[in-house]
Amino acid sequence: MAIRLGAGDALLAEDVQNDFLPGGKLAVDAGDAVVPALNRYLGLAKKLGLPVYASRDWHPREHCSFAAQGGPWPEHCVAGSPGAQFAPGFNLPRDAIVIDKAMNPQLEAYSSFEGTELAALLRRAGVRRLLIGGLATDYCVLNTVRDALANGNLDEYRVRELLAAGAPIDGFGIGSSLVTASDAPFLDAVYKLQEYAGKPRRKRSPGKATWPGRKRVYRHYRDEGLLDHDVVTLEGDVQPGNPLLQLVMKGGRRVNASPGIETLRAYAKAQLATLPQHLRELDGSAEPYRVEIAPALQELAAKLDRQPVAGQPLPANVLS
Ligand SMILES: [Zn+2]
Repeated sequence: MAIRLGAGDALLAEDVQNDFLPGGKLAVDAGDAVVPALNRYLGLAKKLGLPVYASRDWHPREHCSFAAQGGPWPEHCVAGSPGAQFAPGFNLPRDAIVIDKAMNPQLEAYSSFEGTELAALLRRAGVRRLLIGGLATDYCVLNTVRDALANGNLDEYRVRELLAAGAPIDGFGIGSSLVTASDAPFLDAVYKLQEYAGKPRRKRSPGKATWPGRKRVYRHYRDEGLLDHDVVTLEGDVQPGNPLLQLVMKGGRRVNASPGIETLRAYAKAQLATLPQHLRELDGSAEPYRVEIAPALQELAAKLDRQPVAGQPLPANVLS
């Protein structure tokens, strides 16, 4: 996948430090090969004015990951030591933001997001895509990439784009962007009156008309178990099909106990499986789902329309 760099992009160079290079205390085989590769990206970032971040393993001498403390690694990248310095020839720009990590002696932190300001800094800088390179891909780079994905706020359209472009990714950080309205991030309450004082009501403004009275919805399936259509009718008008509405709250209390997360997950999965393919498309071009209004409901609406509007005036504080 060709990557075109631009506004909103940033570079993160992970732990390009002497101790991780050949000859260092925790050397990565041929680790020095990342230096010229990252330098090329640093050059591009400079040309485009993109922000650059560089992380450092910056351990206290008694860090828990060191063998002397019972940890898995030899002592490495002790804060301020020559081994903790950035590699020679690594062309980090002077305005690069350095992220020191794993400074708490009690905690190992492979990811540059762990216990650091990185996520906040990226957000503040308006970074929307982070390119990460460095050492070592099996620990610090891997964990940083994972955290970046988890912080990523992808949505269904970006995931589709990435997959279509053949991105070699098998995990996606789906955050609050999915199915939330970031263009209108507030709830504009609308109240549509269906019934007042036991009498059905209906709004008739063109384009905003509503169906009056208490209702039931019956769902119809095709032979293979896929959704076919729904029928909306009045509460007492029993129809063929599966009734959808269920009483959940009464008098401010749940009617039944929650079925539990496993049951809910299985239910959601089973419901998704009933969606025909064209209703799973992200584009709105597919034919819409069919919803029929039953004769009983149509008749009630027509009857209301024939009544004089003055019938029973609504109190001033009731919106319709
Ligand atoms: Zn370390």
